[in-house]
Amino acid sequence: MPKKHVNGKAARPPAERDSKVCPVCGLPFAWRRKWERDWDTVVYCSERCRQAGTGQRPTQ
Ligand SMILES: [Zn+2]
Repeated sequence: MPKKHVNGKAARPPAERDSKVCPVCGLPFAWRRKWERDWDTVVYCSERCRQAGTGQRPTQ
């Protein structure tokens, strides 16, 4: 089984920095600054997965 790479940065406490599992790609993703206001509603790890999960095509 693959091991997680840990960089040299200090990790925040789990209570402060939560993580979720993306239902599209199945990968865990950690809290990000850009989600600080709507982390509760964040489901997908990225915009790409969000569009795949909602079945919407990206508009250009
Ligand atoms: Zn994803």
